[in-house]
Amino acid sequence: MPPADDKIWVNSADSHVWEPPTLWEENLPAHLKSRGPRVDRREKADVYIVDNEEVIFMKPDMLDAISPPGMMNLDLRMADLDQQGIWAEVVFASTGLWMTVMTDRELQRECTRVWNDWAHAELIKRSERYLPAAMLSSINVEDAAAEAERVAKLGFKVLAFPTTLVGGGEYNNPEFDKVWAVAQEAGLVISFHVGTGTKDLVVTRGPGGAIINYWETTVPAQRCVVHMVSSGALDRFPKLKVMTAEAGASWMPALGDRLDEAYRQHGRWMKPKLERLPSDILKAQVYSSFQHDETAVPTAIHSDYKNILWGSDYPHLEGTFPRTQEVLRELFKDVPDAVRHRVTLGAFEELFGVRMPAALAA
Ligand code: MN
Repeated sequence: MPPADDKIWVNSADSHVWEPPTLWEENLPAHLKSRGPRVDRREKADVYIVDNEEVIFMKPDMLDAISPPGMMNLDLRMADLDQQGIWAEVVFASTGLWMTVMTDRELQRECTRVWNDWAHAELIKRSERYLPAAMLSSINVEDAAAEAERVAKLGFKVLAFPTTLVGGGEYNNPEFDKVWAVAQEAGLVISFHVGTGTKDLVVTRGPGGAIINYWETTVPAQRCVVHMVSSGALDRFPKLKVMTAEAGASWMPALGDRLDEAYRQHGRWMKPKLERLPSDILKAQVYSSFQHDETAVPTAIHSDYKNILWGSDYPHLEGTFPRTQEVLRELFKDVPDAVRHRVTLGAFEELFGVRMPAALAA
């Protein structure tokens, strides 16, 4: 354990791990071996390949821009966390996130099992500070529910669902109750990480594309939340907790206002009838993580939306490494202690039951 110091210690609700390049090739059943996700590092692009299809080309500097010591080496990762002042972290896949665009039921199910078994062995067993987000089938709800039950027994606390469902499904579908029921029963948090479940991350080409397309990724994350609130899923499962990752957080009050207006003015057409105001459901059951947003902490101070979490997005380019402490000092300058504690540690502890040793929390 690192010594007490003057860092702002924080839990990260949005971090990532890089999988060994041959993880799926080595662990899938023989007849599926060649079809798992992999990255082909070419001179001009990193090509992500899923089911032998090239799904996305990324500039090589996306991967190399930050490259912290623990990026590919789990033995060094903990030192990066200590240096940044990060205690526990929800750890999402990296290459593995591309499993969410698969269309073959068996392949996707087996690929998710490989990732979950690896994350269990390499992260959960290594430290309670690592909370990997289990990958699940996004094609078949029975497969997802069965795997959710399995990973609950392995000690997972978070389930990762893509923000976009291949084939056009949506989370207002009552079929998903099968997996929500498992999650509620086992106390597993449902997470939606931006940019997952679609190959079409370039929505707009031409002027402004880099910024427009980055913004576009937040829209499906909000849509997941809107569907789960408005369809009554969170009414039927009042103990279920939902978290968006890397989607910002200060949109929550505006979203609540908008849904409440529909509830009030269009309520006669509402099916099913909600037992609570949409904003009350949001405030009770939906959490959101941000990295840099200037308005996220003021939202926690000035509104009733208190489920705002910080995330480092380590080791990705959108994250804060190696400037994490600088970013945190700026974000929490002149912020009341209680709010700082809630955003940096408290909301995360409430969601996942992981507590940093009190001696570290200055
Ligand atoms: Mn992330």
